[in-house]
Amino acid sequence: MRRTKIVATIGPASREPDVLARMVEAGLDVARLNFSHGDRETHQENVERIRKAASVAGRPVAILQDLPGPKLRIGTLKDGIAELKGGDRLMLHAGSTAEGNERQMSVTWAGLADAVDPQDVIYLADGAIRLRVDAVRGGDGEVDCEVEVGGNVASRQGLNIPGSTRGLSAVPEADLEMLAFGEKIGVDLVALSFVRSAEDVTSVREHTRLPLIAKVEKPQAVDAAEEIIRAADCVMVARGDLGIELPIEEVPGAQKRLLSLAGKLARPAITATQMLDSMVRSNRPTRAEATDVANAIYDGTDAVMLSQETAVGNYPVEAVAMMASIADRTEQDLPYQEWTENRVRRDARDPAYTLAYSACNAARELHLDALVVPTLSGRSARLISAHRPSVPIYALSPGRETVRRCGLMWGVQAASIRRHEVTEGLIADSCRRVVELGWVKPGSRIAITAGLPSGRPGTTSLLQIQRV
Ligand code: PEP
Repeated sequence: MRRTKIVATIGPASREPDVLARMVEAGLDVARLNFSHGDRETHQENVERIRKAASVAGRPVAILQDLPGPKLRIGTLKDGIAELKGGDRLMLHAGSTAEGNERQMSVTWAGLADAVDPQDVIYLADGAIRLRVDAVRGGDGEVDCEVEVGGNVASRQGLNIPGSTRGLSAVPEADLEMLAFGEKIGVDLVALSFVRSAEDVTSVREHTRLPLIAKVEKPQAVDAAEEIIRAADCVMVARGDLGIELPIEEVPGAQKRLLSLAGKLARPAITATQMLDSMVRSNRPTRAEATDVANAIYDGTDAVMLSQETAVGNYPVEAVAMMASIADRTEQDLPYQEWTENRVRRDARDPAYTLAYSACNAARELHLDALVVPTLSGRSARLISAHRPSVPIYALSPGRETVRRCGLMWGVQAASIRRHEVTEGLIADSCRRVVELGWVKPGSRIAITAGLPSGRPGTTSLLQIQRV
């Protein structure tokens, strides 16, 4: 059983039902809908198609709604593209919608002129083009720049101002509208882009009960990572924008620190962007890409993510299958015992951490076959997963949403179970269920955690070792 989870972005290359079915078959755990692109109708249809493919395959697949956040973009360009040359001048018009060209471009955000100062750097075209601000005319919303490094830029491409956040709303109104729409069509998880502080995450909690994934892609978010990860349910190392906002050579270290922090705080982590980038065009990744996927797993990521590879690439099914086989192989070499001992910062005020640790320790010392984890909210499964036991974790929940959310947790396979009010009944039914599902053989020895009284979240307090 593969432990590392696979997130894949659904787009034109992967939304046809037969492709989705093959991606689920190849190991897709979480389908990502990127709300920076596509209309609502298409997203809704994608949700229906993903649910159908998962139900035909008999595997839970979680749906992740990725909100654009305060992403800055240039407007449309005459001919769709402009070539900027080093030494040229470029005027940016904040809040304008006028068509742009090589000399002037509109920028969607009206606050741009108040957010930058002379000498600030602005990047276009995924970081390929570097502009230096010469002068700012706030009243007119004009930012006069010199092109330091030239290149081609296309209509509506992103614009990055590393570090600068003055006046940018944390969660734009449009994101909140998309969030309400996402809930209506039944997404399971929500990712917030360009988070800068823990408050950016907590402010969204007022609007939803869905689990929130904080995308770390701003230098400020790296600096405030501990508070942000604590405030979120999950973290994404969003290397695409992070690699523009930070000097690119700082990204590998930032990835390692973020994944280690996520482990300490027992929050699942996703490593994202360009993992198998050459598979957009080729049916094989480069050696460097295969090594990147493996290294993220050695760094302790819960999930690895595909973006362009599955959204617009030529080999979406092969990319999922390739990630699955790299993960399978890498997992043979992981330091399970060391991770169980030291990965999580256990909390002396909360017995659930010690119980999760004890379950993993028991599994190793007693050579148990599995850990069975009845869970209402998914929290017990998350804490056990964070300790990285070497045996499978089987989560059972009466909540269909909880079952799907477990899709992001390393090593956790989840299924539904009836709701029980009495702990003895819950334990007996859980043991019966994991055998019925074919997950463990009759007579196997397992550890099971449970709550007293049963049926209330956050009461897990019991660890029992028994044969099923
Ligand atoms: C990223 O920047 O790495 C990322 C995942 O975000 P997006 O693809 O939405 O830009």
